[in-house]
Amino acid sequence: MDTRMDPKQLQELAGKHLWICFSELSGVRNSPMIVRGEGCYVYDSNGKRYLDGLAGLFLSNVGHGRGELADAAHEQMNELHFFPLWTFTHPKAIELAARLGELAPGDLNRVFFTTGGGEAVETAWKLAKQYFRAIGQPGRYKVISRQLAYHGTTLGALAITGYESMRAPYEPLPGGALHARTTDAYRAEEEGEALSEACAQDIERIILEEGPETVAAVFLEPVQNSGGCFPAPPGYFRRVREICDRHGVLLVSDEVICAFGRLGHVFACDRYDYIPDMITCAKGLTSGYVPLGATIVSDRMARPFLESGTTFMHGMTYGGHPVGCAVGLANIELIEKEDLCGRVREYEADFRAQLETLYDLPIVGDVRGEGYFYGIELVKDQETKQAFSEEECNRLLGDFLSPRLFELGLICRVDDKGEPVVQLSPPLTAGPEEFREITGILRQAFNEAWEMIVAGD
Ligand code: PLP
Repeated sequence: MDTRMDPKQLQELAGKHLWICFSELSGVRNSPMIVRGEGCYVYDSNGKRYLDGLAGLFLSNVGHGRGELADAAHEQMNELHFFPLWTFTHPKAIELAARLGELAPGDLNRVFFTTGGGEAVETAWKLAKQYFRAIGQPGRYKVISRQLAYHGTTLGALAITGYESMRAPYEPLPGGALHARTTDAYRAEEEGEALSEACAQDIERIILEEGPETVAAVFLEPVQNSGGCFPAPPGYFRRVREICDRHGVLLVSDEVICAFGRLGHVFACDRYDYIPDMITCAKGLTSGYVPLGATIVSDRMARPFLESGTTFMHGMTYGGHPVGCAVGLANIELIEKEDLCGRVREYEADFRAQLETLYDLPIVGDVRGEGYFYGIELVKDQETKQAFSEEECNRLLGDFLSPRLFELGLICRVDDKGEPVVQLSPPLTAGPEEFREITGILRQAFNEAWEMIVAGD
């Protein structure tokens, strides 16, 4: 018997019962319903096809509908659907931890599993605090991240998140989270190495003002997503690493988006040639087929716990779920077998070149990003970089561009945490054909948006 409901019934039920993320509750009923995915495309309940230019939510790295990952989940469920990593272990968690240890740079060898990215960030902060207690520096508890950066929504991760209006409803948040400037090369006065120096110095300024003996860790994404896809200018991470070392502060590479091929490397810190003390990851770890996150920790940080017998008083029932770990292993195998990191490195210039053809449109201010991860900043005046007013932004992004792009068959993110930026992060299986399709749809929507704004003046 087919018990499936028709789309209309489901949407009515959604309006009554479902509460979705970061959305007005009254709009749930009208939210598009995606029912199926295949490769770089997804399909809605009316059978309409969309190019998934965001890989779900920066995570379907191997693409949609991969039977290999479904098989891995199925096999694992039949063998051992669940056992906790509390007191016990299970083979897939051990194998995946060892695999991640092999793939991670330097002495990052020890893996604490979570169910997602925010928990991995939260884990890293708690671990940093307990590590410093264990080595006799209990005063170190503060953390530094960057303005506008998104690191998750649990209260600790939210405190690290540098986006004021996301934090405001939940204040007071755990104290000690401070925010340094972003590496926004488009709007900065400095360029290149000078920008790196200024941004790294801003982190050092905070460390010195707060007192190094109070600062535990710096959390940075290799390419900052939120606020508008800000890559690191040359030498930035080298300088930050030096500063962290000078002041005894840990460096956490938050690779929830950037790892597992997004920037052409399994771990994105390899692209920028720095070795952090911890890596937080999730999303692409399983390509989103099942929830799993991880905090990968250096041997140096694990040592005091090993030597003193200190217990890390932290965990979650589903952290390191056997099905998540089995899928994670199969996903890494696919990434390697299909050389998706190599593919990203091979085609990223083509992706960028396609997007850069949009510079002939007056609304396109800046195309920026790395790998398969780009942002396009929209401006009112290309020459002067004049930004849109808040009212124009709302009209342009929320009211027009988001629904129009969707209508034209492209799923991407229109972010307005800083200046308006259209974000793109397609599956790593995408290639020139998909880049052309993305660019064509953007061109049409940007042209229409420009006419609307100009006509509204
Ligand atoms: N850190 C970064 C850099 C992220 O982009 C995200 C989510 O997008 C998170 C943390 C939070 O991950 P999750 O939504 O799995 O909790």
